[in-house]
Amino acid sequence: MTTEKQVAAGRPVASPEPEAAPSESIAKRFTLTMAERGPVLPVGVKTPSGDLARDLSARPWKTKDERALGKLKKPNMSMAGYVATVIGYMYSRLGAHEWSPETPMPERLVVINQMYMGDVFYAYMWLRREVIGNELHMNVECPSCKKGFRFEGDLGSTHVQCVHDLSGLAQTYTLKDPIDVRKKKVTVFQMRPPRWGALALKEGESLNEATAKIASIRSSIVGLNDDPNEITLTDDELDELSKKDLEGISALLNTDYLGPRMVVEGECPRCEAPFKQMIDWSYGGFFTSSSV
Ligand SMILES: [Zn+2]
Repeated sequence: MTTEKQVAAGRPVASPEPEAAPSESIAKRFTLTMAERGPVLPVGVKTPSGDLARDLSARPWKTKDERALGKLKKPNMSMAGYVATVIGYMYSRLGAHEWSPETPMPERLVVINQMYMGDVFYAYMWLRREVIGNELHMNVECPSCKKGFRFEGDLGSTHVQCVHDLSGLAQTYTLKDPIDVRKKKVTVFQMRPPRWGALALKEGESLNEATAKIASIRSSIVGLNDDPNEITLTDDELDELSKKDLEGISALLNTDYLGPRMVVEGECPRCEAPFKQMIDWSYGGFFTSSSV
């Protein structure tokens, strides 16, 4: 098992170590820092020949783009919808997808929603790094002494989990509490990395950690037992999962997460207690000078 424990201040790391047994897929995945990975998607977009195309290329971000992006931001837009819009607007190439300036935005959004979540987060963080730089200042409240302080994270040192090829995408999860789905006893879920569209489904719905977790889990479950037919669980079916399995799947997605870790870890400057904080990737916190 290749767990990583090089925890330096400000270095985003895996959040809680799960109890899940190491799966075969771990060997098919590897971790680099964002600085090492460069403008290359962690997973990529499948080409007709079955390869994964991964190159990224963005336009320079100018003042006029700032204005145009401001206009594209609709009051009711979900954060995930806005991230897709920023990426659709600024990138000219995302893996196998190459866009001319005339490619309409709705067409781009359809494509982005079908991309893996880890790839879209990566493209978004890479863009931030290109446009503003590596340093990400965040306001942290110490979980122990409650002191508030400013913390400087380094986006270049963000860990990114990648796959060599398509074989690195498949996973299985064995349920601790089997459930009945569509008149079948289900003991194993076939899993794939979640798609961005899972987060963007409901306009106006606020995306918090709980809704994002459940949406990611639902998008990750693609098959039941060893049945080769792809399925998507309904909300009602997902509701039948035991808390144990919900947390088990969540832990699996957390260890074997593809793309950048969205968590920064460090120590409180006053009491030295360790803290973990999600990177605030909302536009206000991420793409403006207040975060530099
Ligand atoms: Zn403290």
